[in-house]
Amino acid sequence: MGKSQMEAKIQTATDGVVLKSRDIGAATRVLSVLTGKSGLIDVFANGARRPKSRLAAVAQPFAYSDFVISRRKDVCTVEAGEIKHTFYALREDIRRLSLAFYLSELTGFLAPRPGESGANPGEYLRLFLNSLYLLETGTREEAFVRAVYELRILAMSGYMPDLVACVSCGVFDGARPVFYPGNGIFLCEDCAAAENADRPAVHISGAVLSAMRHVIYSDFEKIFSFRLSGEALGLFGRACEAYVTERTERAFKSLDFYKSVEKSIEV
Ligand SMILES: [Zn+2]
Repeated sequence: MGKSQMEAKIQTATDGVVLKSRDIGAATRVLSVLTGKSGLIDVFANGARRPKSRLAAVAQPFAYSDFVISRRKDVCTVEAGEIKHTFYALREDIRRLSLAFYLSELTGFLAPRPGESGANPGEYLRLFLNSLYLLETGTREEAFVRAVYELRILAMSGYMPDLVACVSCGVFDGARPVFYPGNGIFLCEDCAAAENADRPAVHISGAVLSAMRHVIYSDFEKIFSFRLSGEALGLFGRACEAYVTERTERAFKSLDFYKSVEKSIEV
């Protein structure tokens, strides 16, 4: 390949949502964008910090836009952007906003990078946008959106739990199953009682097991179409959070912040 070809500028049109941004110098913003075409990429938005910049709006966290992105060697730059949805209303509620930042951080950790084989970046983008929409409109409880998001994105990222049946005896249902987030499996009440191993466990219920199965085994369009409330929603949330903790082996600062906000502003 000749020198001129190696330095060629390649342009791509894709939709994408800004997961986070950081400022460089007086005018430039580097955006971490989850794109439908290539997954997660870092792009320079030159001049975006200037108030009159045509890129100011698309360079905001959670802004969903049609982008034209150029790549020269390993550097990606926003050439043009047209906003499709700002999700600006999230900023009117600190709890929802901080939850959105947690979903962003989790996504930044799990979403595929360009060229990762087998990944479907468009599905990550749709999951993120659908969840932000539910948060922005307040259509579903925060705890519900959060737990569904956590479980589904983990399942998409290579951490598919096996919730078909009790792994020990094969029983399909049970009143009080136990979920083991370290392995992503469950045991029925009887098999769990016979367990000696000391490993993280979440005692769930039949309804929560059904909900978890729904989230991981349903077609994408249906993953949010079920209801859980009260104690069951609490257990569902605990199981999904434990699964994030065990599988990512990582603490998320934005989750700690969300929890502190959640505690200080009880609804
Ligand atoms: Zn069993």
